[in-house]
Amino acid sequence: MSFFFKRRRNDAKSASQPDPDAAGAPYALPDFAVDEYRPLKVICIGAGYSGIIAGIRFSQRIAKLDLTIYEKENGIGGTWHVNRYPGLACDIPSHCYQLTFEEHVEWSNFYAPGPEIRAYLQRVVDKYKLMRYIKLRHELVGAAWDEVAGRWHVRIRRADDAGKTEEFEDECDVLFLGIGVLSRWKWPDVDGLKNFGGRVIHTAQWDAAEGEWQETVKDWGDKVVGLIGNGSSGIQAVTALQPRVKSLINFAKSKTWLSTSFSVNMLLKLLGRAEDSIDYDFTEEHWEKFKDPKYYKDFRHEVEHDLNSVNSITIRDSPLQKAAAAAFKAEMEKKLARKPELAEQIVPQFSVSCRRLTPGPGYLEALCEPNTSLERTPITRVTKTGVELADGRAVALDVLVCATGFDTSYHYPFPITGRGGLALNARWTPHAEAYLSVAVDGFPNLFWALGPNSGLNSGSLLVLMEKQVDYIVAAAAKMQRERIKAIEVKRAAVLAWRAYVASYFPKTVFTDACNSWYRTADGAIVGLWPGSCLHAVRALQNPRWEDFEYTYVDAGAGTGPLYWLGDGQSWNEKTMTGDRAWYLDEVDIPPVPED
Ligand code: NAP
Repeated sequence: MSFFFKRRRNDAKSASQPDPDAAGAPYALPDFAVDEYRPLKVICIGAGYSGIIAGIRFSQRIAKLDLTIYEKENGIGGTWHVNRYPGLACDIPSHCYQLTFEEHVEWSNFYAPGPEIRAYLQRVVDKYKLMRYIKLRHELVGAAWDEVAGRWHVRIRRADDAGKTEEFEDECDVLFLGIGVLSRWKWPDVDGLKNFGGRVIHTAQWDAAEGEWQETVKDWGDKVVGLIGNGSSGIQAVTALQPRVKSLINFAKSKTWLSTSFSVNMLLKLLGRAEDSIDYDFTEEHWEKFKDPKYYKDFRHEVEHDLNSVNSITIRDSPLQKAAAAAFKAEMEKKLARKPELAEQIVPQFSVSCRRLTPGPGYLEALCEPNTSLERTPITRVTKTGVELADGRAVALDVLVCATGFDTSYHYPFPITGRGGLALNARWTPHAEAYLSVAVDGFPNLFWALGPNSGLNSGSLLVLMEKQVDYIVAAAAKMQRERIKAIEVKRAAVLAWRAYVASYFPKTVFTDACNSWYRTADGAIVGLWPGSCLHAVRALQNPRWEDFEYTYVDAGAGTGPLYWLGDGQSWNEKTMTGDRAWYLDEVDIPPVPED
């Protein structure tokens, strides 16, 4: 009978934990060497950026690893595989949206188009030979913790070429969720969507089978297109669709800030272009220069340094917040010069960054084109022929594009059951939380990249993801080294984190009055790390292992927390194989003081 259908009665938390009173008792020395590590089975869910980084780092750093990466889509890349909407592009500088250890020279634009990022990720996967771990079209159905075995039972649904599915079970010591937060897209909450007689499509649903987006909209020249939303996706899609359709109406409930000048100014300066240039393409001449490792390193360093210098914008009433608001307002008004009445409709009163700040190059210019309009009146109903607005007007449409975002609640559609039968969705009610965004009490050996509170307002999300993976791999290495069966973050540590998060955000602009996916319905901020990108990097750098509780593989008489010290020798001595002076190759040579 499947693990999932069995009633488990063996969830006693510390059934196999050594008796603490036996701490001073003699050890029954085992016959393994101190570095004769136990095998570790790791299952990673998702082959987006998180899963790819995990695949590289787990296989690099964990000996005797059995790794499987299950990916529900028929390709790698996560959000960059799924999202194919018109205008899809990176909205931070391309050189900061790549792995620290895997630099690409030939980004075509300051903001790389989605297909380039997808191709980059495919090259990374190929280079590190990750397809041997990745199983495509394998979707997580549920996971349950087995207290006795100290393992996760994972149920997976596999689909074949014809779309036929079957389910099976796998199990692992460590379960890593790299499923992102922007992966469960949602329709707008308006009546009648199903009644619409034309085409209705979500930005995250653009069909890969139809080819790149330019192909999919090639017949839209005579179409009246409505596009709901002005988040990052909507802004990019409006810009890309405007020249390709007969007319375009952007339905936007909220005002929003655009920050084109933020990193662009610095990039233009570095590339020697005029301050007001709107040419954001890199040229072959740049690519040639980037081939010089020192030049490239300095360039990237400069861009990333700049990106990491603006976090104070998120602090309410800070000088940078005020300066940015004034600069962005002036810049937005300038770009709206052909339709000055739009400024009142779109330039917000709330602070810059309350909603996700996006550069949106070309968006305001697109809104000023004669075939485009901005509609702020809320949609009350979708009809067969278009939409009805709150003021009673009807707008006829041929196509309705919904750039209406994602379910960012962290309430997963599949069950994850931890210690004592605790359901994750119950643990995460009223809202999700995870210590340093990577782990939660009640769920041993389960870790997240991009878990609750891991988004960033500034800085590079990829650096944060790399650091989260480093942290999790370090936990797995500790489990292997010290023969730990279960590692669980202490509830007290999670509560301390909760208190820190709750203390941090009130001073920021994220609690301003704006609509933002960073906040949950109960007002908690779950979408953002409480601090800057560099703050997160530092916080994740040195795990506080004392914030975790442990149970051990070997339990009972003659064992204890130091049982992993083994038989008093290392593997190379025990087997008389390999190098027995290896530490001489790892010497950390201290600098000699100059005076
Ligand atoms: P989003 O920021 O959540 O925006 C959703 C939009 O849909 C909002 O404007 C929202 O309005 C609107 N909306 C939802 N329901 C509506 C309704 N019933 N009527 C009218 N409007 C409605 O989603 P997103 O644009 O997909 O972006 C999500 C995140 O994805 C971004 O913040 C970013 O982190 C990421 N992203 C990144 C990139 C990149 O280049 N790296 C590109 C795209 C997206 P209200 O806000 O007023 O509710």
